[in-house]
Amino acid sequence: MGIPDYIEPGKLKALALYIHIPFCVEKCDYCAFYSVAHSKAEWQEKWLQAVRLEFAKCRKLIGDIRISTIFIGGGTPSLLKLPLLEGLFKEIELFNLDGLEEYSIEANPESLSPDFLDLLKIYSIDRLSLGVQSLQPEELAMLGRRASLEHTLEALELLSAKWQGRLNLDFISGIPGQSQASLLDSLEKAIQMAKLDHISLYSLSAEEKTALQRRFQNEGLKHHPNHDSLWIKAYCFLQSQGFLNYEMANFAKPGKECRHNLAYWNLKPYWGFGPSAYSTLPGKKGVLRLSYASDLHLFNGRADKALAIESLTPKEFLTDTMIMGWRLKQGVSKGVFLRRFGSSLEDLLPGFYDFLVNKRILLQSKSHYRLSLKSRLFLDDVLLELMGALDELPSGLLRVNWPE
Ligand code: SF4
Repeated sequence: MGIPDYIEPGKLKALALYIHIPFCVEKCDYCAFYSVAHSKAEWQEKWLQAVRLEFAKCRKLIGDIRISTIFIGGGTPSLLKLPLLEGLFKEIELFNLDGLEEYSIEANPESLSPDFLDLLKIYSIDRLSLGVQSLQPEELAMLGRRASLEHTLEALELLSAKWQGRLNLDFISGIPGQSQASLLDSLEKAIQMAKLDHISLYSLSAEEKTALQRRFQNEGLKHHPNHDSLWIKAYCFLQSQGFLNYEMANFAKPGKECRHNLAYWNLKPYWGFGPSAYSTLPGKKGVLRLSYASDLHLFNGRADKALAIESLTPKEFLTDTMIMGWRLKQGVSKGVFLRRFGSSLEDLLPGFYDFLVNKRILLQSKSHYRLSLKSRLFLDDVLLELMGALDELPSGLLRVNWPE
């Protein structure tokens, strides 16, 4: 059986596309994303060829259904050889891009070049996300980043001089040795140097099988002792600069939120391509999760063999809806919830709803199930309660209508 046997394209009104470019100069010590270091030109060519074939299958299924947003992430998209990147952009243009709302790409400072920016302009890519992480040399070294401070400052200068589109910079808080002053200094310098409308501030964690985790184990490296207060200080600073927190790790000027990621957090249909990319799509028998194995060579050889397809149970999909939606400051739309599950949260899970209200986890809102900031910071505890409540719900009671 192939993808057409599972997917129900007739339920799609629009689709968000994600493309994963899995190449990096070297692995950063903390990185748990799938990417391959020291790639050969031939691997990149084969990757593009495999993406072309997967795109063609997708287009055959969806016809001229509109693409709402595109996000090219990685890995390091700016590392792909420019003729190959142009080949990818041309291939993307074969989709129906009428009314495309946002076209984003990620880059890293060491591979940002004027030619790369020129190519983005030609193909109307209007949003760039640069992995800065810190503007302190000792913190960049602690993270095992390849870009030096000089590389990063040069990249910011290049963007100031040449980039006209929207711009996000990624930062990390909780780096061992990071102080409140050094974090705020990095953020402040970046805001001064570049015309930003978005900042992502991720919390460092030592993920399994990363070099950082090994350093924590072998070198006695310790988690940041005051990470919560450090993060809150950065939160207040960014808010004071007009960057409003709209998702756990994301801050934007009003109206400049990342639309692609909003679609993802609101669980609108999206299709991801490339090793480790996954998709949530309407299926003939419910909601489907597609995922490509984290294996470049398998993807390059037979991408269809790298693809796993599973159906989400209604309970899994409701959990996903809350896990993703409660990351957002505005929370989960009550209207969407009702249309998606045929019932309100309070009617479906009254005990859980009362728990949220009595513990003041839920804020008063007519339109959304919205969590307080503190509860968003301890989201895992709330989700454990949700899963306990769902376990009690008789199976068969929950129906899903999606996309609503
Ligand atoms: S550049 Fe990004 S994707 Fe590549 S290794 Fe570093 S953190 Fe991971």
